[in-house]
Amino acid sequence: MASDHPAGPLFPPLQTYSEEESMMREAVKKYAQERIAPFVSKMDENSAMDEEVLKSLFEQGLMGIEIEPEYNGTGSTFFSSILVIEELAKVDPSVAVLCDIQNTLINTLFTKLGTAAQKEQYLSRLSTDMIGSFCLSEAESGSDAFSLKTRAEKHKDYYIINGSKMWISNAEHAGVFLVMANVDPSAGYRGITCFIVDRDTEGLEICKKENKLGLRASSTCPLNFDNVKVPEKNILGQAGQGYKYAIGMLNEGRIGIAAQMLGLAQGCFDHTVPYTRQRVQFGKRIFDFQGMQHQIAHVATQIEAGRLLTYNAARLKEAGRPFIKEACMAKYFTAEVATLTTSKCIEWMGGVGFTKDYPIEKYYRDCKIGEHDWTNVLMDCTLLCFTPHSSSQMTLGEFIDVCSRYHQF
Ligand SMILES: Cc1cc2nc3c(=O)[nH]c(=O)nc-3n(C[C@H](O)[C@H](O)[C@H](O)COP(=O)(O)OP(=O)(O)OC[C@H]3O[C@@H](n4cnc5c(N)ncnc54)[C@H](O)[C@@H]3O)c2cc1C
Repeated sequence: MASDHPAGPLFPPLQTYSEEESMMREAVKKYAQERIAPFVSKMDENSAMDEEVLKSLFEQGLMGIEIEPEYNGTGSTFFSSILVIEELAKVDPSVAVLCDIQNTLINTLFTKLGTAAQKEQYLSRLSTDMIGSFCLSEAESGSDAFSLKTRAEKHKDYYIINGSKMWISNAEHAGVFLVMANVDPSAGYRGITCFIVDRDTEGLEICKKENKLGLRASSTCPLNFDNVKVPEKNILGQAGQGYKYAIGMLNEGRIGIAAQMLGLAQGCFDHTVPYTRQRVQFGKRIFDFQGMQHQIAHVATQIEAGRLLTYNAARLKEAGRPFIKEACMAKYFTAEVATLTTSKCIEWMGGVGFTKDYPIEKYYRDCKIGEHDWTNVLMDCTLLCFTPHSSSQMTLGEFIDVCSRYHQF
């Protein structure tokens, strides 16, 4: 990078945004305040995503952020997706989950692996009006995802899928499902294959959504596959490579989850601090007590550190450099920061923080997902492995090997 600094090149601070990124961030901030905020409490109470919110996400181009304009996408970058997810999570983490899964998992899988025909058929719809779901987890295979039991049996030029999936986000509204099923159980995880299954395929049942603690507006449903027939051309990528795709996507997905947790923490903090500046006790604003300021400064610093980890992981990924370890760290740290922040914010608000008159208790419920979720065990594997050789240098084969041996640790 060109520079006239005597000590050598100067690099821009991590929180430097391109013009496009700044515009996107500002636009989403405004959109979220105007078009999502009024619905948040009702959506949480009813455990349902508002149809208007869904429609507006597509209208704003937020469901196809990295998809090329030739497929009606916004044609933007991974980093912009991360900024969008962060901004949405400040207002409603359920909406951020929807946007995150669509952009960082579904769209990316279609873009990277889709044939010309698959891209033609799905990318334009994903940009404009179709939600996609990612189906890996099952009742008996959660953290141990590659022990999945859903089978896809090959016939002439089609497969028959039987089995069931659990915890499938956005399934209530999804038009397409990316389903991991095993085509060759004798090969173990090397039989796992990714199938494109349309919502209206015979034999696919989307069951009653879970009644959850948090992220209530984001639907999470079990799915049943009863002799679901899909043509061979509906394999996404190559047969038997599904485990690689899942790992790859979950690596990127961790940066999206970090952005969710970061936005959630910031949103909660931003709602709370103004209250501490208004609330008077002992003749002073509670913000003015030094005991409060120490705590507020600590949380503000943790959020800032989480932002730097998240942006660094996103910039590394975008630069095509190794990022797995950094993505794991970002997700792990921001999930902890979100838990700390929301808990502290309830305390700082006193009694009212415990009521539904303020959004703080919702952030507290919504953040809990970050500490359990699907990537934790793989994250531990990675962190365990970054010495003696860094995860950045690990081959995929080594990573898989470690994942499969995880139970021995
Ligand atoms: C709201 C929500 C949305 C989701 N969305 C999706 C989705 O869209 N698609 C999808 O495929 N899945 C989804 N999931 C599933 C999610 O990925 C799983 O819940 C996750 O993988 C954990 O699996 P499990 O619930 O079976 O827990 P388990 O695997 O039973 O784990 C229970 C506990 O044991 C710990 N544990 C497990 N193995 C080990 C070990 N070897 N060593 C130490 N500790 C261990 C875990 O960390 C956890 O704390 C979602 C889940 C939720 C709750």
